[in-house]
Amino acid sequence: MTEMSYLDGNMLDGPLRELFAVDLSAATGRCASCGAVGPVAGLHVYAHAPGLVGRCPSCAEVMVRLVRAPDGAWLDLRGVTYLQVPLPTAQPFPRPV
Ligand SMILES: [Zn+2]
Repeated sequence: MTEMSYLDGNMLDGPLRELFAVDLSAATGRCASCGAVGPVAGLHVYAHAPGLVGRCPSCAEVMVRLVRAPDGAWLDLRGVTYLQVPLPTAQPFPRPV
């Protein structure tokens, strides 16, 4: 078996920083429960829970949960099949050496 080369997780910093530095309310998400596709900005967000809970406007299932503590944050995207994030023209990721 040939060992495949890989980069350590530090290389994800740039791509993830780009992803999370954008306004995710402009992203499009697909509900894992009913399959509805729509903008994150269209979610019904409930802020009177221990965190923020974003529910699908079609079926009311939880799509996003975000809990912010003084020293960290928890982001639960189990209710989202995917997020499509509009970005500027793609830059190629570094190739393994
Ligand atoms: Zn739904």
